[in-house]
Amino acid sequence: MDFQIDPADEALRVEVREFLRTHLPADLAQRGASGFHPLRADQRRWQRILFERGWGAPNWPTEFGGTGWSHLRQFIFDEECALAGAPVTDHGGLRMFGPVIYTYASSELKARLLPAILRGELFWGQGFSEPNAGSDLAALRTRAERDGDHYIVNGQKIWTTGAHTCDVIGCLVKTNPEAKQRGISFLCIDPQSPGISIRPIIDIGEGYSLNEVFFDNVRVPVDNLLGEENMGWTYAKAVLENERATSAEVPLNKRKLAQLREIVQRECSNGERVIDLPGFAQRVAQLEVDLRALEWLTLRALTEKSGGTSLPYGSLLKVRGSELLQRIGEMTVEALGQYGLYVYAEPEENTITAWPMGPDYAPGVTADFMYRRAATIYGGANEVQRTIIARSFLEL
Ligand SMILES: Cc1cc2nc3c(=O)[nH]c(=O)nc-3n(C[C@H](O)[C@H](O)[C@H](O)COP(=O)(O)OP(=O)(O)OC[C@H]3O[C@@H](n4cnc5c(N)ncnc54)[C@H](O)[C@@H]3O)c2cc1C
Repeated sequence: MDFQIDPADEALRVEVREFLRTHLPADLAQRGASGFHPLRADQRRWQRILFERGWGAPNWPTEFGGTGWSHLRQFIFDEECALAGAPVTDHGGLRMFGPVIYTYASSELKARLLPAILRGELFWGQGFSEPNAGSDLAALRTRAERDGDHYIVNGQKIWTTGAHTCDVIGCLVKTNPEAKQRGISFLCIDPQSPGISIRPIIDIGEGYSLNEVFFDNVRVPVDNLLGEENMGWTYAKAVLENERATSAEVPLNKRKLAQLREIVQRECSNGERVIDLPGFAQRVAQLEVDLRALEWLTLRALTEKSGGTSLPYGSLLKVRGSELLQRIGEMTVEALGQYGLYVYAEPEENTITAWPMGPDYAPGVTADFMYRRAATIYGGANEVQRTIIARSFLEL
């Protein structure tokens, strides 16, 4: 492997950094640097700014309005955005569903969905998991029956992130209840459709991003079927693979580690800086080493991806990245001392001016630490990923 970074790629880093300095609104960056969930309005605003710069979809080919960048360039772009505190863009539309749409959808659906995603007008929810179908996703039971030009959908989804603010939910539904994987189809469903009700799930960090979604005789136009009927499992696997490809969350881990470094140097305990307390410096150094290793593993995965590889990189990155995120979060809360015991309420607007107490880097840390307990569950539980890794290495 040759990890010499091309000067043209380094030049892109400089260009992106300068663009962020001049175009990322300060209120978006302030919230982005905290651990609070991003506001949908912020994401829409930021996506529009990126779109106007021609960077609306760093991971899409140019023919669909993307940048056509290499994996390395996308990585550089993501890293700079995260370090600057830019709001995360619509991971669902851009990373998970977009590539599946331009690969499998009809030209009509492509023309309807892709430009709207690019402009920040169409945000996606992922309607896959159900109460008894998470790791065993193929056990899903939400039913879609054909009625003329529509499907009639009945059932329930759970853990649907952003269902209350998204514009479309990519749903897996059963169109043939007799079959398992081969009876699943993929429907794009408008969450405002009559018959849909959405119930919030407040997470352990007191944030609201998760939902239960109920379908009661919801009419969905047949035109909203992605690809072919009963082929949804193939598309779902592609969506999940896209999800795992970035699951190491290196840019996010870098931002969190930078925050931890700042906190251990500024916070004091009994008059001593936290970084000087016994063991702290070594533990921060270990996190640094592990993050470096994760970064190299990610770059290796990206480099080998085009050449074809048999290693289960998606699962490896998911396990290492999610565990690192949790370890950094734990240490940041510990370094905050008394302020780490307090869960600051998630602001509904970007008017973060007066906090009840503590330094300006404290709000959001504990809420995010708690939310990230789920990092080893969402995107495919780590236990299941470990089985995939073991099978691959043991050639089972
Ligand atoms: C914060 C968060 C956000 C989410 N967002 C979304 C979303 O937007 N859209 C969506 O569709 N889903 C979403 N999910 C759902 C997520 O994909 C599932 O929670 C996950 O796949 C696990 O499924 P489950 O919750 O049904 O747990 P289960 O599958 O019931 O697993 C329970 C436990 O059993 C273990 N287990 C299960 N099967 C095996 C096995 N074969 N081998 C070893 N251990 C096993 C698991 O590791 C876990 O510890 C989200 C979940 C969370 C927590």
